[in-house]
Amino acid sequence: MEEQTKAIVQSSLDALMENQEFLPELQGEMRSQAFTSLSAILSTPNQIYKSFLRVPLDNGAVVRIPSFRVHHNNAMGPYKGGIRFHESVNEEEVVNLAFLMTLKNALHNVPFGGGKGGVLINPRDFSEKELNMISRKFVRYFADVIGATKDIPAPDMGSGEREMDWMMAEYKKIHPGEPYLGSFTGKSVENGGSLGRREATGKGVYFTFRYLMHDFVKENEQLLSSTSNKFAATTLAHANRPLTLAVQGFGNVGSITALEAYKCPLVDNTVVAVSDRNVTLYNENGLDIPALISFTSKNRGDLPVTDEQLSEAGVSAEIRSRDDLLTLPVDVLVLAALENQIHENNMTEIHAKIIVEGANAPTTKEADQYLSDQGVVIIPDILANAGGVIVSYFEWLQGRETQYHSEQEIYDKLVGQMQQTMDMILPQYFGDPFPLRQNCYIHSVKRLSTVLYKQGKLY
Ligand code: GLU
Repeated sequence: MEEQTKAIVQSSLDALMENQEFLPELQGEMRSQAFTSLSAILSTPNQIYKSFLRVPLDNGAVVRIPSFRVHHNNAMGPYKGGIRFHESVNEEEVVNLAFLMTLKNALHNVPFGGGKGGVLINPRDFSEKELNMISRKFVRYFADVIGATKDIPAPDMGSGEREMDWMMAEYKKIHPGEPYLGSFTGKSVENGGSLGRREATGKGVYFTFRYLMHDFVKENEQLLSSTSNKFAATTLAHANRPLTLAVQGFGNVGSITALEAYKCPLVDNTVVAVSDRNVTLYNENGLDIPALISFTSKNRGDLPVTDEQLSEAGVSAEIRSRDDLLTLPVDVLVLAALENQIHENNMTEIHAKIIVEGANAPTTKEADQYLSDQGVVIIPDILANAGGVIVSYFEWLQGRETQYHSEQEIYDKLVGQMQQTMDMILPQYFGDPFPLRQNCYIHSVKRLSTVLYKQGKLY
């Protein structure tokens, strides 16, 4: 994943340099110096903080849990990004995820930099009391480097509102008298969170897909049919007709994306498959997503794995093995689980012509290249899954003003911001030969380079 992100940023920098879009006001030696500085800034984080959290367990034992907080870049504003609780967390992963946050925020013009945190645990192995202690210890160990104007954490995989509520409470205790509502986002609504934050990532993922495949095409049919771009051909071939979707991952992002597709009043899309860490459920006529969500909410987040559980859920589906989902004969694949899910060993078996990245970095460099060569449209992570951080920004603002918006207002603002980004990017994308990911990176890097230059950091 590290290589993939860096390679694409490097090629985006090269493309910017070639087509004169990189700081056109600079000439000769100054321009190449600025370019070298920018590459160095992007390829290394500003700071990496790490610690072993010492946590007493319910049984009296004491564990030491590796934990990280990475500050990648803060040129656009305070560092911002989630804290992942997962058993595969490692320093390199957190650095790369922080880098993606820098790019994501710059792309959508969110006035934050990029940061990320990680705690190396499987949260399922700990009691609620132990998780409370782990969350509080995280804040105690990193208390000096987080805060509403410094670095604002949020949920990520394995963490949610509950952990943010605990963390903010600990922050408030450590920094008495300081404004604290903006120190964490993704909190519960009762505790200063924003309406609509919980659903924001999934709703944004579906909106991005729908906007590209339906609204944008409708308005720009001429543009798409007059270009020789292979991605335009794929888009046109799938636009404004019923599509089948398979959704990998049924957590906060996957389940809400699936629900949006299920409910979407504009187009006749069918979610035919969903999967989680245990199983794939498939029904070519469509799955009852609300029934599955209600089942998972009573079953520790897990989908039904037996026929008895399916009938308990009131859902009719075929039970298949977990990874079957990726190679099903569907039009659209939504990746909302972990990174590196489509790779060298399964990329040739993918049937979907549209891939939507709800997760961060779910497609490896090789797979990305291979699928793009085939004309597969990949809506990349930094474009598709930014709904969470965009509504985090609204939550942060509401906390500062202590004035709160309705759920509808938040949703309208969210899709307004995502649409603005798409309207900036898509016309150029269909004119250039680059995949959408590269196009997004070019825009992010361009915005970052302008800000860094104005701040006098590109010498
Ligand atoms: N963890 C989410 C992401 O990867 C949200 C981050 C935030 O709200 O700060 O974008």
